[in-house]
Amino acid sequence: MIRTRCRSVRYLLAVGLTVLAATPFAPLAAQSTVPGLDTAAMDRSVRPGNDFYLYANGRWVRETAIPADRSSYGAFNIAAERAERRLTQIVQDAAKANAPAGSDLRKIGDYYTSFLDTAAIAARGLTPLKPALNRIAAIGNRTELARYIGSTLRADVDVINDGALDTDNLFGLWVDQDFDTPTKNFAALLQGGLEMPDKSYYLDTSATMVTVREKYRTHVARMLTLAGFSDATGMADTILALETKIARTHEAREDTWDVRKGDNHWARAEFPTKAPGLDWDAFFTAAGLGDIPTFVAWQPAAITQLSALTASEPLSAWKDLFVYHTIEHHAAVLPPAFDHEAFAFFGKTLSGIEAQAPRVKRAVQAASGALGFAVGKLYVTRYFPPSAKRAAETMVANIIHAYDLRIDRLAWMAPSTKQEAKAKLETLKVSVGYPDTWPSYAGLEVVPGRAYGNFDRVERFQYAENLEKLHRPVDRAEWSMTPQTVNAVNMPAMNALNFPAAILEPPFFDPKRPMVMNYAAIGAVIGHEISHSFDNLGANFDAHGRLRDWWTPADSAHFADATEALVQQYDDYRPFPNLAINGKLTITENIADLAGLTASYDAYRASLGGQEAPAWDGFTGDQQFFIAFAQIWRTKFRAPALRRRLLTDGHSPGPYRARTVRNLGAWYAAFHVQPGDSLYLAPDERVRIW
Ligand SMILES: [Zn+2]
Repeated sequence: MIRTRCRSVRYLLAVGLTVLAATPFAPLAAQSTVPGLDTAAMDRSVRPGNDFYLYANGRWVRETAIPADRSSYGAFNIAAERAERRLTQIVQDAAKANAPAGSDLRKIGDYYTSFLDTAAIAARGLTPLKPALNRIAAIGNRTELARYIGSTLRADVDVINDGALDTDNLFGLWVDQDFDTPTKNFAALLQGGLEMPDKSYYLDTSATMVTVREKYRTHVARMLTLAGFSDATGMADTILALETKIARTHEAREDTWDVRKGDNHWARAEFPTKAPGLDWDAFFTAAGLGDIPTFVAWQPAAITQLSALTASEPLSAWKDLFVYHTIEHHAAVLPPAFDHEAFAFFGKTLSGIEAQAPRVKRAVQAASGALGFAVGKLYVTRYFPPSAKRAAETMVANIIHAYDLRIDRLAWMAPSTKQEAKAKLETLKVSVGYPDTWPSYAGLEVVPGRAYGNFDRVERFQYAENLEKLHRPVDRAEWSMTPQTVNAVNMPAMNALNFPAAILEPPFFDPKRPMVMNYAAIGAVIGHEISHSFDNLGANFDAHGRLRDWWTPADSAHFADATEALVQQYDDYRPFPNLAINGKLTITENIADLAGLTASYDAYRASLGGQEAPAWDGFTGDQQFFIAFAQIWRTKFRAPALRRRLLTDGHSPGPYRARTVRNLGAWYAAFHVQPGDSLYLAPDERVRIW
């Protein structure tokens, strides 16, 4: 991925994703009449070698305010806002179409209208919540507890494709291509059970986190009071205590990213001995997984300890926790008081967002998320011309070719490793714009006027789709990102790339501006995604997606050294005096940025056949390339949101991603960067991986 992707529908609905407010400053080249660099946004008083990000974006940084309903704002939002305007049109047209019952168009319209109708939601009050609360109240023993946990399992996590590591259920299910037998899919269980974003929110003893926890306790009590519980404060104490115990079992995120630590195949029969406590038979049967013989226990120690907690902690504590999690999970589709309280904590306190996005925008996002590919199909029909698909496919081919040449030229890599790397490049399955075949929503029921029920039905539908995948061969053409998403993804086990239609737009791609700028922007994104096949994560998989060591020991050692140097480089970046970037947590994405920029640079030079790019507004081709790259990373954060990202996100914050240029020799030449400049690295300190 090129940027964070949040799979938590609950979180997205709570804070709202969208904003149509214009920035006070003209964004990038996207809206200027002559497409090119956004020179007005630069600050030429900054020496490029001292702070390249500010040189390219200084005036924008000074003059841009983060819209009230956002936690951060940057170049990605400019493309996202365009996509959102289009989605609003599509979804509202669907709502007005009076399409036949059961059609995708009708479902999109009904989902949107139901979510939007807060008067109807308020009028139904707590009624939709009652069946779930009754089920929890009826839990009378440990077997029923296991059955409840199994019945609420959802396909809401995915380590290597989505970076979705969290679920508020005790466990999350992830279905993906099996690392040992690539023709079939595996069922992996991941740790879960927390509402706050990471274990550190429960365990960190800093004053900031202690305050957050106190606000959280108050928030939990408020939600329970709204739901009519009389002992809300006592329940909140119990819930926070149990979540804290759950947090202690959690493995660190950087370990969770490690596929070799995660790939633990457990036979179903082994669960009671490897993770005693939970009634696993009851759990798996209730989860619809009774016929699956083997699972992947992704964080085995955490699964063992979580299972033990289900036996050692009082039933009543678990029931309190389930009650609260059920309410929180559905806050967006419960009466507005719940929705506003959820935003006050998750949006305001945890992310620093000032105002919740308007309901209409959230309803568009909700419909676009619920029926993602049905909406995506309408999106590409209206907005993605074949010419854009062809242009992007050509760039992809050129950048893959640049990688191929780089592999040939690598002095340190043994011929046998090169052969394997090139085989992987050849088997890359690249899809641009949209999938060849569209997933069906025939099995999804959407009921007008039933926002809560529709929300649950979508989750169960997605879960059923994933269970179904366990019974059929892997399909490498399947997409994991919808076409209307401003992002891109590499699925490293499948060795497949998706470049959604919505990112093939300004400021990433604009056929009307010089190609060098497209190589710097969408080209770097393409290179980034390709490189995920060869980063510290992707390099574990061979051309067929087997988790297999295809590196010679010497090559492996070289790769590890280069990787370590990059970890150190990012560990030194400190967005807060008391909080640095976690070089280890972000290493995969930092490698992808570096390798991607390098390959897209090569491809841009090759596309000119040895000629220099024409000057543009006084800038040489290489200068245009690096400035355009730094301009796609312009991002402003609210402090709590930045803190949250540093603790949880595999991507470095945008301004630091712009510093990737420090490792490329061509950048030094282009801007006369000298020893003594803040960003200067001696040639042997510049990290070169591919
Ligand atoms: Zn990435």
